[in-house]
Amino acid sequence: MSVPVGASLRGWLDHLGSRDRLVMAQPGVDLRFGVAGIANRFDGAAATLFPQPGGHAVPVVSGLLSDRAWMAEAMGVPQDGLIERYRHACLEPVPSREVGEAPCQQSVRKDVDLTAMLPIPTHNEHDHGAYITAGLLIARRPDTGVQNVSIHRLQVSGPNRLGALLLPRHTLAFFHDRESAGADLEIAIVIGVDPLTLMASQAIVPIDHDELEISGALRGEPLPVTRCVTNEVRVPADAEIVLEGRLLAQVREPEGPFGEFPQYYGQRAERHVIEVDALTSRESPLFHTIVGGGLEHLLLGGIPREASFLASLRRSFPCVRDVHLSRGGTCRYHLYVQVERPAPGEAKNVLLGALGTHYDIKHVTVVDTDVDVHDPTEVEWAVATRFQADRDLVVVSGSQGSKLDPSTAEGVGAKMGLDATVAVDAPPMKFTRIAVPGQQELDVGALTAPATADWREACRG
Ligand code: MN
Repeated sequence: MSVPVGASLRGWLDHLGSRDRLVMAQPGVDLRFGVAGIANRFDGAAATLFPQPGGHAVPVVSGLLSDRAWMAEAMGVPQDGLIERYRHACLEPVPSREVGEAPCQQSVRKDVDLTAMLPIPTHNEHDHGAYITAGLLIARRPDTGVQNVSIHRLQVSGPNRLGALLLPRHTLAFFHDRESAGADLEIAIVIGVDPLTLMASQAIVPIDHDELEISGALRGEPLPVTRCVTNEVRVPADAEIVLEGRLLAQVREPEGPFGEFPQYYGQRAERHVIEVDALTSRESPLFHTIVGGGLEHLLLGGIPREASFLASLRRSFPCVRDVHLSRGGTCRYHLYVQVERPAPGEAKNVLLGALGTHYDIKHVTVVDTDVDVHDPTEVEWAVATRFQADRDLVVVSGSQGSKLDPSTAEGVGAKMGLDATVAVDAPPMKFTRIAVPGQQELDVGALTAPATADWREACRG
C-alpha cells in the first residue's frame, strides 16, 4: 500500500489546490477577525491560505479537514471505509521512528516572543485575544517515556507564556502526577502537522497509548519523530512549528473567554499555564489555525471519536454496526448507534454503555440497520415512529457531562437515552418501511427527459 496523500501537510495542500478546494486570500488580511471571517465563509468548501497575515512573514492556513469526504481522501480510503480504517489504526498502532535531522528544527530560537514570531489570530467576537488553536500538545512521562497527544486552546498570555484549558483527560493526569511531586511537566506544542497526525491526535484511546503511533498506523509506516532541543519530548519531524516548554506546577492564571465547539464561549477562569523555552521551525513555516466552532473544529473532534466509540462499543456489544455524532449535537453530544438484531433488552444495554463511553456524550439514540445513522432526518423518523417515551426513554441525573455545555452545572448534568429500535417480537409487517419495487434500478436518464413548452401536445401522443 502506498503512503496516503494525508501523510504530508504540503502534499495535502497541493491535493486540495488541484481540486479547487484551496482559496488564497489577498496578502495582509487582519489577524483579528479577518482570518476567521474569510475561513468561515469557505467553511466546508475550501481550505484558506493567508499570505502575510497582519504583515507577518509566516502564512496562516485554515480549514484543512472540514469535510468527512476529505478525511477519507487524506487516509486513502472510500468514505464508507473511513471509520473502519481509523478504528483499525487505533487497535494496531505503529511505533514512531526517531530521526536525528528534522525539518522542524531548521530554525531554533530561545528568545521567544510569540506574537512577534508567529501570526496568531483572534477568531470570535468575545475571545480574550490571540489563541493558538491547532497546536498538538505532546506530553511525556519522565519515568516511562510514554507520550500523550491532544489539542488544547492556548491563550497568548505573554511573550513566552500561554494559558491552557486542560479538561479531565490524559494530559491533566500526566500533569497531576508531576505536580504532586512538585515538578513541571515537559511538553511540546506542535503547529502545522500532516492531516493524518492531526486526526490521530483526536483518538479516544486509553491512557498511556501514544496517539502519534495511530498516525503511524494511518500512514502504513512509522511516523518520523525527533527529540526536542530543550527537553525529552519527541515531536513529528516534519512539523512546521514546535514550541518547547513546561506546564508549570502550582501556577494558575486567568484564561478565556474563548469561542468553542458548542457555539458558545468557554468562560474566563483560573487555568493552567505553559512557559515556552524554545521555538523551532522549518525555514519558511506555515501556521495552522482552527477557527473555534467551525466545521474543521467540529469534524476533527467528531470523526475520530466515532471510530473510537465504535471500537469500544463493539467490544461489549457485537450487535453494534455503526455510530454517528451529529452536527446538530456539535459532533460531541449526540450519538446515534445502529444495531443489528439486538437480543431482547440489549438495545437498552447498548444505550447505557454508550452513555458511559465519554463524558461529552449527553443523548444517545439507538436505531436498527434499516435506518441510516449518518442522516439525522432518518434518526428522527425512527424516534417518531418506533419510540414510546414511557417505555423506551432512559434518564440519568447528576452525571459528568461537558463543562462547555452551558446548560450543565459546571459540567454536571443529565444524560438521556432513546431506544428507537423495533421490539424483537413485533409483527414484521407493522414496521416494514414502504418501498416501490425496482425503483433504485430504474435508468431514469433513458426513461425520461426535461418537459418542454409543448407538454400538452406531447401528452396527446
Ligand atoms: Mn491520550
